[in-house]
Amino acid sequence: MKIVVPKETYPGETRVPIVPASVKTLVALGAEVEVESGLGETCRSTDQDYKDAGATVNEDRKALISSGDLVLRLRQPPEEEVEWLKKGALHISYLDPFNQRALVETFASAGVSAISMEMVPRTTLAQKMDAISSQANLAGYVSVILAAERTDKILPMMMTPAGTIDPARVLICGVGVAGLQAIATANRMGARVEATDVRDETEEQVRSLGAKFVKVDLGKTESTKDGYAKELTEEQKKRQQEALGKLYSNYDVIITTAKVFGRPAPKIILGWMLEKMKPGTVIVDMAADTGGNVEGSKANEEVDVNGVNIIGFDNLPGMVAVPASEMYSSNLTHMITHFWDKEKNEFVPNPEDEIIQGCLLTRDGAVVNERVKSIWEKQ
Ligand code: NAD
Repeated sequence: MKIVVPKETYPGETRVPIVPASVKTLVALGAEVEVESGLGETCRSTDQDYKDAGATVNEDRKALISSGDLVLRLRQPPEEEVEWLKKGALHISYLDPFNQRALVETFASAGVSAISMEMVPRTTLAQKMDAISSQANLAGYVSVILAAERTDKILPMMMTPAGTIDPARVLICGVGVAGLQAIATANRMGARVEATDVRDETEEQVRSLGAKFVKVDLGKTESTKDGYAKELTEEQKKRQQEALGKLYSNYDVIITTAKVFGRPAPKIILGWMLEKMKPGTVIVDMAADTGGNVEGSKANEEVDVNGVNIIGFDNLPGMVAVPASEMYSSNLTHMITHFWDKEKNEFVPNPEDEIIQGCLLTRDGAVVNERVKSIWEKQ
């Protein structure tokens, strides 16, 4: 089976889907691996590094993509490049399937099987393939580093002969994978960290990381079987806004990570709350690319609202491209190894398998993912 890896073309993307160490693993499995020339140049890996790991290097992008039995990418491909794929090929990348119906349908009509990395189920077995989590973890770390750089305060307490400097106060809203890493990072840097979430089970997790939990009484809240929060009712949203709205002015840094799977991000900081905040407050809105947790935040921009600095950068893992690429590459490699049929010497996406049922979108000319189809029907 020939595995091919084209260069990422999304503006500003620094991560790469496959690092040389993973090429070694794939070649050892029995795959032939070919990468586009320059693949690793944003990530400290040269063409020679890929060759040393056992890959061939091709300068002709179209020839590369159209020769692959299995095509690996990070971002979704441009639609015209889907047309280049071989009929019967398998393509693995992020695909944003709820919002990219036309692209998914193009995969189906091209006769290509497409796996969406966002749709890997959250099971123990699939954890090592879970790119959403591996990237969110790094994004949580970067959010704190970014805020620490932007704030005009310092994070730790300092006791000096000239006096004592109080630690910065940091609030993390949303304690999933990214939020937990943000808490741990801010704590390590010495900030006074508090966190809030709508899922009750997060209280214990926050405490165990040594941070204070800000509890809002919302009554009964629900999660999906995958552990994702469900959207709050209108009444609950109001209660949350009233309770938290009064508190935001206490903090120097606020990091929001609140997301609801398949839905626009909930608004948890509104315009009137921004007006009450101290000028100089730094907010990192990690949900800016899915609608934003903060009124006025802009995807991929940094905006100033009454002296409050709101950062909405959408590719935080790309700011630490080396480990982010290593993690994503490892997620892909674990998936390929898991589904590799040693006798046939190829990736076999068994349709009976729970992981494949979760993340395979198209097969044999049709869209086969029921979850994606049901979301499309509601749109
Ligand atoms: P996410 O990115 O969907 O959302 C981030 C956080 O925002 C979540 O904790 C969510 O509860 C919270 N949130 C949603 N609406 C909110 C609101 N209005 N106000 C405040 N907070 C709000 O979450 P995630 O990082 O994907 O993690 C969700 C859960 O899934 C976590 O418990 C995580 O540990 C778990 N998880 C399990 C696996 C696995 O079992 N393999 C893998 C990854 C994550």
